[in-house]
Amino acid sequence: MNTSEKDNPIFPQGERTPADYFIGTARLNLLVPLDETGSYAVGNVVFEPASRTNWHTHPAGQILLVTDGKGHYQEKGQPARHLSKGDVVVIPSLVEHWHGAARDNSFTHIAITNNTAEGTVKWLDPVTDEEYNNL
Ligand code: MN
Repeated sequence: MNTSEKDNPIFPQGERTPADYFIGTARLNLLVPLDETGSYAVGNVVFEPASRTNWHTHPAGQILLVTDGKGHYQEKGQPARHLSKGDVVVIPSLVEHWHGAARDNSFTHIAITNNTAEGTVKWLDPVTDEEYNNL
């Protein structure tokens, strides 16, 4: 019997995320593209092992709800936080950070991202192998 989210996911897998903003393979199912007020978007992201976002900021913050696997969240200049099912990450506005899978595990989170006139995200540089290997 499969008890893993990986084998029995809550949400169907979405489309591959843009290679310009991610390293490795991650898939985004945009569950709520933007709510009717335009205030926030909700997406389910599945990262394959070692895949991750680029460094980025959110003009009005973001909340991550971890539903499966093992992953990391790191703010610039801070130690990485290790994440697993049930963890909640509250990301403040304009704080540079990345999130993604652990080296040997897939990782799934729901992302609730507040929207502004400047959009939901500003993409920055890739998380280098050196940065990732030094977690
Ligand atoms: Mn983020």
